[in-house]
Amino acid sequence: MIVRAIALDFFRNYLHLEAAFDPRINVIYGENAQGKTNLLEAVAYLSTASSHRARYDRELIQFGVDSAFVKAEVFSRQRDFTLEARLSRGQRRQLYSNGVRLKTAGELSGVLNTVLFCPEDLYLIREGAAVRRRFLDECICQLRPKYAAALVEYRRLYEHKTRILRDWEEKPSLLDTLDEFNLRMAQTGAMLIYYRAHFVKRLREVTPPIHQDFSGGRERLDLRYCTVSGVPDPEAGVKEILPHLLSHQERHRQAELESRQCLSGPHKDDLEVEIDGVSAKTFASQGQTRTAALSLKLASREIFYQDTGEWPVLLLDDVLSELDAKRQSFVLGRIQGGQVFITCCEDMGLKALEQGKVFHIRGGAMA
Ligand code: ATP
Ligand code: MG
Repeated sequence: MIVRAIALDFFRNYLHLEAAFDPRINVIYGENAQGKTNLLEAVAYLSTASSHRARYDRELIQFGVDSAFVKAEVFSRQRDFTLEARLSRGQRRQLYSNGVRLKTAGELSGVLNTVLFCPEDLYLIREGAAVRRRFLDECICQLRPKYAAALVEYRRLYEHKTRILRDWEEKPSLLDTLDEFNLRMAQTGAMLIYYRAHFVKRLREVTPPIHQDFSGGRERLDLRYCTVSGVPDPEAGVKEILPHLLSHQERHRQAELESRQCLSGPHKDDLEVEIDGVSAKTFASQGQTRTAALSLKLASREIFYQDTGEWPVLLLDDVLSELDAKRQSFVLGRIQGGQVFITCCEDMGLKALEQGKVFHIRGGAMA
């Protein structure tokens, strides 16, 4: 998958930008706060219709302006695509592929896959479970449109059930709908568990050899998918998972009513990482957890390739400058194949790269 060109209007600090990219390596450099991350964010937005750092689409629209446009020419599956997003304040965003309006973000799936890596991702292992769930979700959503739809539905149900549990004492009639919500949450939850379990299975095949290479053959990495304790085999089919989820919910019904919170479900899932047999989150050194995080990200990129036959576009935002020389050269050596965008400050020496294009960004424009 290759982003041949992009055009932005009123996106973040870009008034208007048109750029044509190299099919291999694109280095985007400039001082702080000039728009490097914003440019990667625009590319990533067209792959999932979401941003890793904006909670609401309106944050992407330039201050004081009502709408923003992002358009890219993408080469994927041996074809050319024109992807477009039109964002407006107070209106639903509109997405287009080759001029045809898309009904859901899921329809973008499989056209432009991206793997974004930013410095915060280096804490993937150390942080709470939510960031590891987000990592899984970002990957699976791009590969499986059905998963993306289930995730949206699950979040909607979760919010609704949370309101029921919060308000039922004041308004007991709300409890009439609780069973219905439990059932639908278990049905969609079973799908999430099934897809996550299978993705983690792939990660468990692909990540350990990368990590082993990375650590000079010294360390053994293991991954484990942790989900609702009542589900004995998360890799089993959705139909097999469902009754376990339902009975688990039933056992927690009273506790949920008393605590007035949604207690258990795949919204608590985690991906456990072990290095040499012990929990990396608890015992590993900072360097080890960074290496493991890089290995996971690189593994996801390779799984995308295995799954689609095409390399996803890799967006390395400021991450190389965070790594020592050994890790830098490992990453650069491992990403042969596929298009890469690398942002950095001026002094990185990447301008000396023999292939690719270099862009200098200043104040939301090409300098
Ligand atoms: P760094 O090297 O520090 O990471 P950067 O070049 O990646 O810097 P960006 O994160 O791309 O910088 O942000 C550039 C600027 O865009 C920031 O100064 C920010 O205030 C501005 N900005 C962010 N959102 C908007 C918006 N909606 N409208 C206008 N400007 C915005
Ligand atoms: Mg940045």
